[in-house]
Amino acid sequence: MNMALKLYNTLTRKKEAFKPIKKGEVGMYECGPTVYSYPHIGNMLRYIFGDILTRVLIYDGYKVKRVMNVTDVGHLTGDSDEGTDKMEGAAAKEGKKASDIANFYWKAFKEDFSKLNITSPNIWCKATEHIKEQIELIKVLEKKGFTYSTSDGIYFDTSKLKDYGKLSLLNKENIKAGARVDLGDKRNKTDFVLWKYSEEPGVRQQEWPSPWGIGFPGWHIECSAMSSKYLGEHFDSENKFSDSTIAKNKKQAIIDIHTGGIDNMFPHHENEIAQSEAATGKKFVNYWLHNNFLSVKGEKVSKSKGGLYTISELENLGYPALVYRYMCLLAHYRSSLDFSLDLLNAAKNGYEGLKNKIKLIDDKSVGKDASSYLDDFQKAIDDDLNMPLALQALQALLKDDKVSGKSKLEVVKKMDEVFALDLLKEEKIEIPAEIKKLAEERWKAKKNKDFKKADEIRDKINKQGFVINDKLDGFELKKI
Ligand code: AMP
Ligand code: ZN
Repeated sequence: MNMALKLYNTLTRKKEAFKPIKKGEVGMYECGPTVYSYPHIGNMLRYIFGDILTRVLIYDGYKVKRVMNVTDVGHLTGDSDEGTDKMEGAAAKEGKKASDIANFYWKAFKEDFSKLNITSPNIWCKATEHIKEQIELIKVLEKKGFTYSTSDGIYFDTSKLKDYGKLSLLNKENIKAGARVDLGDKRNKTDFVLWKYSEEPGVRQQEWPSPWGIGFPGWHIECSAMSSKYLGEHFDSENKFSDSTIAKNKKQAIIDIHTGGIDNMFPHHENEIAQSEAATGKKFVNYWLHNNFLSVKGEKVSKSKGGLYTISELENLGYPALVYRYMCLLAHYRSSLDFSLDLLNAAKNGYEGLKNKIKLIDDKSVGKDASSYLDDFQKAIDDDLNMPLALQALQALLKDDKVSGKSKLEVVKKMDEVFALDLLKEEKIEIPAEIKKLAEERWKAKKNKDFKKADEIRDKINKQGFVINDKLDGFELKKI
């Protein structure tokens, strides 16, 4: 196991040495999609970041248990406690069942994951399949005195928690009710809904009975309830918490790493911390990691605002999904990346250039060992997932002709465990019959020691976009 990994923790605003709760194992929770429309490439940047983190942890020898939620209820337009439920809105617009909408767009997400080589989480969990767990958690919060009731739901009282706001560094004045803010029945500006009543039971598609009335869970409670269920302590209002391995280890935190986009920091993650720490009295997460946004002309773009392509749209424009993945790796996950087709085009050239250089590596060429490049790569990925620097290590390796072909290929293969750019995968391209014929002729000429003719034919083959690599007992043809 490599212990040199450093990660930037939003909670402390510092790069910290990564130390898991349980030796050799990592529990990781990633806030997943709200499945009411097709994902765009900005969403995918966020999941590529989560995938790189997962791959680096695995590369460093950790066993990773990664959980991702699927939000299929309770996420309201505006990300606060007002507006329409995004799922109900999409169901009404498309004239379908909310559960069909959820399954349809979830499938679209998974298809993009697969095209982009984003590893599937070990556990996907849907909010609507964990209503019981969410109600149990609200009951624990109620027993501990953190909740109050209003005309439209059960709210979390953020003034009851000493350190509310610690993740997004909220100023205490922002929490207290201000004269200029219309709070409705809320006690404090930052209080948020845990259980919202159906305005008129029987109208919404998705609603459930609860000890407080018919309604649906708030957006934040699903992540506290499901992350605990799968990675830490299990909430149960009767027994308080069932024993988990981690509780037995008497450790404070229940989760090692939690990720999301910077927009999730407030209110979503702040409120997850509030719910989980109020319920357990323990630290919820040790390392919070947030990716920056994909922008267009400097403007933040999101699904609700529109304005970003989908992966399929990029494919239709001639940019394979892995070109987009490569483009994302050109910037550090904490810097914003300004998207344009020019940038994507440059990424396409860069990516194809890389693949071509790799294709031309002669595995029989002799030379020195390439492991120093792998050391540079390791340093880069362990320095808070510095992918631009890691790509530089790959470029430098490919330029070095003193390194043996075999060692070069081995190092490329190792690096690609993290990049996941299919660097060694050959596209299945049919070699035209005329090229095959030329190659046979060249082989014959070579055997007859007519090297001049053999070289001429080789040039002809190259000009038509193919390369020929000699093997001990024959040759191999590849597309350039
Ligand atoms: P949503 O499905 O809208 O809840 O968004 C899913 C995830 O995508 C969230 O974690 C957001 O932080 C992230 N996200 C949305 N838009 C962008 C963007 N333009 N760049 C990077 N991440 C984004
Ligand atoms: Zn979440």
